[in-house]
Amino acid sequence: MTAKKNVRAKTASRKKKQDNLFGLPKVFKQKIKQCAKEQGDESKPQVVFLWACVNEAGLTQGVKGERKAARPLTREEWLTVVDEAASLGANWLVLSFGADLSACGDFWGVCQWAQQAHNMMVGLHVKSEKLTQQDVRTMMDALDMEKTRILARKGVLDNVRLDEEEQKALVVWDANPQPDGERPNCQGPTRMIFVNARGVLYTCGLVEGNEAYRLGHVFDTKLKRIVMDPHLPHHVEDNLHYVTPECDGCPALIANYFFDNC
Ligand code: SF4
Repeated sequence: MTAKKNVRAKTASRKKKQDNLFGLPKVFKQKIKQCAKEQGDESKPQVVFLWACVNEAGLTQGVKGERKAARPLTREEWLTVVDEAASLGANWLVLSFGADLSACGDFWGVCQWAQQAHNMMVGLHVKSEKLTQQDVRTMMDALDMEKTRILARKGVLDNVRLDEEEQKALVVWDANPQPDGERPNCQGPTRMIFVNARGVLYTCGLVEGNEAYRLGHVFDTKLKRIVMDPHLPHHVEDNLHYVTPECDGCPALIANYFFDNC
């Protein structure tokens, strides 16, 4: 067994023992409150959300830092990212899909790992206009739907005929609960790790691609160092801080609208 697998096996075993403490959506709400209480304790990271982008190449697209040879991130490495985020307190994994789910490769294993090994809630942020019947079936086969939410703009299920079981299982939350142009009613990026589809970390989705907010690459350094580094930008400047389509699917925003309904 490799060192990484060893770590994951230990994590899974530890988490299994905590099944009585975690597992129901309302407990995630409690964890968020707990994190809020812990604010001010500078020795502890305050991470709640891991928000990662997925494109047609799936979760395996990405390159290492400029000085190192470019190579794709493997699924194994993405699992390590999930492990690291979970070790910092993340209890949500949100994946934003820039293409149809069926075109995005095998990301299901990463979602399963998040749910099974870390008891995380999984949010599937669907940017494409419609889900298909096949998307719904695959999702229901692969994931624990009690720990799954679909984040999408209205009408995403218009093309799908849901049977009774599917209607009960699917929970869809509005991916853009606040109109563009307003000041975001969000929890801010400080408790979130945002990774774009190339493995590059930014302060949050709003400023993806803005070099001033580039925090590094998932494999250039430990996530904890990035989260704890006071010299990195963990807030978005006021002059940029308005809701835009780049805030769609942001868990730090959606949490303020939907978590009470869990
Ligand atoms: S993406 Fe938008 S809603 Fe999310 S933390 Fe950044 S500013 Fe707030």
